[in-house]
Amino acid sequence: MSMKVLVINTGSSSIKFELFQMPEEKVEASGLLQRIGEEGSELSYSLKGEKYKIAQKVPDHGVGLKLIISALTDGEKGGIEDISEIGAVGHRVVHGGEAFAKTAKIDADVLQAVRDHIDLAPLHNPPNILGIEVATSALPKALQVAVFDTSFHQSIPPHAYLYPVPYELYENQRVRRYGFHGTSHRYVTQRAAELLDKPIEELNVITAHLGNGASITAVRGGKSVDTSMGLTPLEGLMMGTRCGDIDPALIAFLERTQKMSVGDIDKLLNKKSGLLGISGVSNDMRTCEEAAAKGNERAQIALEMYAYRVKKYVGAYTAVLGRVDALVFTAGAGENGAELRAQVLENMEPLGYKIDPERNAVRGKEADVSTADSPIRVLVIPTNEELMIARDTYVLASA
Ligand code: AMP
Repeated sequence: MSMKVLVINTGSSSIKFELFQMPEEKVEASGLLQRIGEEGSELSYSLKGEKYKIAQKVPDHGVGLKLIISALTDGEKGGIEDISEIGAVGHRVVHGGEAFAKTAKIDADVLQAVRDHIDLAPLHNPPNILGIEVATSALPKALQVAVFDTSFHQSIPPHAYLYPVPYELYENQRVRRYGFHGTSHRYVTQRAAELLDKPIEELNVITAHLGNGASITAVRGGKSVDTSMGLTPLEGLMMGTRCGDIDPALIAFLERTQKMSVGDIDKLLNKKSGLLGISGVSNDMRTCEEAAAKGNERAQIALEMYAYRVKKYVGAYTAVLGRVDALVFTAGAGENGAELRAQVLENMEPLGYKIDPERNAVRGKEADVSTADSPIRVLVIPTNEELMIARDTYVLASA
């Protein structure tokens, strides 16, 4: 069945979108509307290969989505003729908790379940819900589908998802590891199976999504069995501005000695830590690399810490999986950071990782960067969460 699928990622003041012709998986348009409800709202998008910008006041998400739809249906620019060609809308939803192990058609119950998880993702789920509401009213004939960042990780077993805190916290407050970036980890896992020509049910991989947010996942037989992010996206690897793993006693220490409020500590750990906190320069890896190259010692140690923490998880997940077919690097820093990849895998030959310096000199495209005799393949696979969402949405819409 031929149809167009609109993929939407709604943030608190932005809507990111991509329009696919399915099943051909052809991208017909993509864009980003920023600063909704603020000064200087702007829609930048590409349609049929041409780039456009529209600066106009966008007071809310409803107006924003209408603007996007009018841009997509602009006949003069070769846009789609009729809005009814969009058969389905796929929404990225951050937190589905334990309620969703798979992508779901959105109905009143599903929407309520997403609402029920607001306390677990207070920054992300409310705009995601808003996105669903405005898309439902703007495209009432299209099927609305939710693709959850958490669902790929629902296969993680209890011994890996529970925290060693009183069990009642899990039973009553749903405190556990959920994991995020699931759509990205799932996409690169599928792609690795294709590249290695191995049935996904037999594939063991470690997928490292290293972007501004970063997480790493152990995948056994195509299913997530552990991941570094936890109850929230704060746990695990060091990130652009997030601390990742720390001693949890730091929170009480700061409260006691600095008289900081828990809210301020939360902000410190989420927004002022990571690469930014250590380097004092930037949350951006490239900027840190530039500063480090000029001799900035704090930028140098920040980059060393970042790679060291990825290395520790690669080691841990190698132990978890026993047999690893491939380690996959993805997202901004994973896809482009050749130096980072080399640092992560330095001295890892005894574990089976042999990186080839020449093959590793690659940025942003699919490549095997390990030596021919490396027992474990090391792959660079650019992620494509939008395509994964479009595929899931199309499967449900054409069923
Ligand atoms: P993402 O969140 O996936 O867009 O990734 C953003 C991160 O990727 C930022 O920290 C960028 O600095 C980093 N990144 C992008 N290009 C490069 C590059 N050529 N070398 C190192 N890091 C890069």
